[in-house]
Amino acid sequence: MYRLAVVGATGLVGSKMLEVLDRKNIPFSELTLFSSKKSAGTEVVFKGQTYIVRELTAAAAAEPFDYILMSAGGGTSLKFSPLFEQSGATVIDNSSAFRMEEDIDLIVPEVNRPQSSRTIIANPNCSTIQSVVPLKPLADRFGLERVSYTTYQAVSGSGIAGRNDLANGEKGIAPTNYPHPIYNNALPHIDVFQDDGYTKEEQKMVDETKKILQLPELKVTATCVRVPVQDSHSVAINVTLSTPATVEEIRDVLAAAPGVVVVDDVKNNAYPMAIHSTDRDEVFVGRIRSDESLPNTFHIWCTADNLLKGAALNAVQILEQLHTIRSESHV
Ligand code: NAP
Repeated sequence: MYRLAVVGATGLVGSKMLEVLDRKNIPFSELTLFSSKKSAGTEVVFKGQTYIVRELTAAAAAEPFDYILMSAGGGTSLKFSPLFEQSGATVIDNSSAFRMEEDIDLIVPEVNRPQSSRTIIANPNCSTIQSVVPLKPLADRFGLERVSYTTYQAVSGSGIAGRNDLANGEKGIAPTNYPHPIYNNALPHIDVFQDDGYTKEEQKMVDETKKILQLPELKVTATCVRVPVQDSHSVAINVTLSTPATVEEIRDVLAAAPGVVVVDDVKNNAYPMAIHSTDRDEVFVGRIRSDESLPNTFHIWCTADNLLKGAALNAVQILEQLHTIRSESHV
């Protein structure tokens, strides 16, 4: 039985983590909920029991825990994840703070398994998670040469602040989180701009795709766009395979892939949509068609709930994966 803590339990992802934990069979004996000073003292009901959210401090990070689900931003993670690790806990971190460090595993359980001896494990970027789930079976069957992403990302990807900007924008109130109104708009700007003109979100999709798929030579590019959708990110994936394939073969490979649902019946206007993937665990793919402008190249439209598969669910699945690996190693 594990001693489990959720850091950022009052946030959008932290609250989803509690919802996911509620319906999973992870054996834990203690649950501790942390936030910043601001929300400390908040009451949260989980499985009929009331928990008082505590402020995360260095002293708290020295207490004995087995697993930490960390979802409180990069700065908080940089400060506290190493303290939890030193105290013997395994940290599953939702922020980008450690993702690209060489000795840190970046895990999507349908795709890869932890290898490192470090006990901070990174949960990838939300749009990357939902994209590598369908790309992995294609890589295994046909090989991958190049991936070009265009994303259409929901405001809940920016946490409570993103939700507030959309709701306030509808009432004519100026945004405080985004640099421009998100209501009735599309912002080709997620995270900060780098010197090369790409955003950090775009760079994360490029770097994390290569790392998770273990394909350092893969050519990847991305344009990331925030759209006025509450939940679920959509990604237009343009993929060039290493070997020829038909649309039917791709559809069959994806239909058999873990965590993927194919919705691809355009005659009946059936394709993945954000409103259908919201509150669902799976990644939805459709609009699978050949891109005649390049050899062996295909378009795939992909949607998933950014708070679930893009964040909370993937983190809890990592916990389940570690539980299975560690239980097996004790047999
Ligand atoms: P959010 O709704 O703004 O919630 C942030 C949470 O972090 C709150 O519980 C907040 O507590 C807590 N927090 C802030 N500073 C803290 C500190 N110093 N010590 C302890 N807790 C602190 O944000 P979110 O969307 O849940 O995102 C949380 C993390 O997940 C971020 O790293 C984000 O990049 C990542 N992520 C989000 C998504 C998504 O789709 N939203 C997807 C993937 C990854 P208070 O209530 O006290 O402020």
